[in-house]
Amino acid sequence: MFRMDVSGLIPKNMENRGLLILKDNLRFIEDILSHRRIPKEGLPEDKIRLLLKFFSLMDTDKDPKVIRIGEREGRCVSKIQEELVSGFCHGIGRSGNLIDPQPKAPGASAMYNLTNSMLTSFLRNLGLKVHGIGLPVATGLSLSLCLNAVRRMYNSNVVIYPYAAHKSPIKGVYLVGFRMRLVETKLYGDAVKVDVDDIEDAIVHEIDMGNNPCILSTLTFFPPRESDDIVEIGKICKEYNIPHIVNGAYALQNRYYIEKLRKAFKYRVDAVVSSSDKNLLTPIGGGIVYSKDKDFLREVSLSYPGRACATPIVNILISLLSLGMKRYLELMEEQRRCRDLLEELLNNLVEKTESKVLNINNPISLAVTVNSDPVEIAGKLYNLRVTGPRGVRSTDKFATCYLHKYPYDYIVINAAIGVRDKDIIAVVEKLEDVLLRR
Ligand SMILES: *Cc1c(COP(=O)(O)O)cnc(C)c1O
Repeated sequence: MFRMDVSGLIPKNMENRGLLILKDNLRFIEDILSHRRIPKEGLPEDKIRLLLKFFSLMDTDKDPKVIRIGEREGRCVSKIQEELVSGFCHGIGRSGNLIDPQPKAPGASAMYNLTNSMLTSFLRNLGLKVHGIGLPVATGLSLSLCLNAVRRMYNSNVVIYPYAAHKSPIKGVYLVGFRMRLVETKLYGDAVKVDVDDIEDAIVHEIDMGNNPCILSTLTFFPPRESDDIVEIGKICKEYNIPHIVNGAYALQNRYYIEKLRKAFKYRVDAVVSSSDKNLLTPIGGGIVYSKDKDFLREVSLSYPGRACATPIVNILISLLSLGMKRYLELMEEQRRCRDLLEELLNNLVEKTESKVLNINNPISLAVTVNSDPVEIAGKLYNLRVTGPRGVRSTDKFATCYLHKYPYDYIVINAAIGVRDKDIIAVVEKLEDVLLRR
């Protein structure tokens, strides 16, 4: 194809040497294209840029002899726009099937397919024997696409939702037009969670009424709400032959969640949705959906109405290439260490503040009780340039996911992937300053 013919411009021995260097510098592209897996070691930015450039130069809007007479021809007013989409002006997808190749965009289509292969290898490296696809929308909308796929494949007409008070999944359900049947949480010590027997009762009730239920369970959540028992729910879904979608918004960063997913996949899980930004450290705007069933993923991709912007997919590809598996595993380890550090520091803090760390199973976040208005405390932390803590009043039924009065006011602090020791140390210092009014 491409030949770097510099013969006659320099002496032959220099030409050979130069071409050898060039070949070695470009070999990474051949390696990536032949393996199609997440690399062990991350790649530097210039190489990633080069790979993206190669792909984007395959799209028809880059064809120097193209005759463009469609109403959509990847035309851009400004070079800035072209840069913002990494050259993929035609986007991805074809007539509302994201994973179908787009004739106007051979490069973007190949790039998307490569990203999905890499995602799949990433998930398998984490121990999940699934197929994965990247979606150009965040978690809530990705859940909508999954639920639409469930409806198309199984005629489901009601979503049974063990109550987890996050607006995105709830809106995601309503967007698809499903009725929602909530299953209430109960209090177990400090922890708020849903009894699996209550979920089974809800299934039986809906079936008795002649409906076709599906389940939307939640794996990752803020304390005091604990994870749904997705393994037991998976067993019940298998027994009753009911589709099961898992909201695993930030599940890929921690072994605790991955292990639960691994087990649940042995029973019934149709798909899991995770956020590209929460797990792969991309800018916000992408989703990751994974399933054992390739046909299910195809149905998800078919549910998308129209063509999509390539950028959320490119961001996933860039993360996978930049981090490599090695760095990702290191980041997971750092996350775990920071979570332990946070627990230690909060345990020291509560001795001084006459409060307690809530006893809740959660590998990312911790909640500490407070004796003054938690919303005000969170506001003070915000003004001290801390982002992320949530202050929740015991009466706030939405935030605690508990429809009765929760026994404590509390502050939630997260040690999620990407966090650094110094953030953890600093936030606990600031919290101490606020609580002890220094
Ligand atoms: C972050 C999060 C979401 C957010 O969804 P987006 O659509 O990505 O904003 C949904 N559910 C849970 C449990 C989350 O933690």
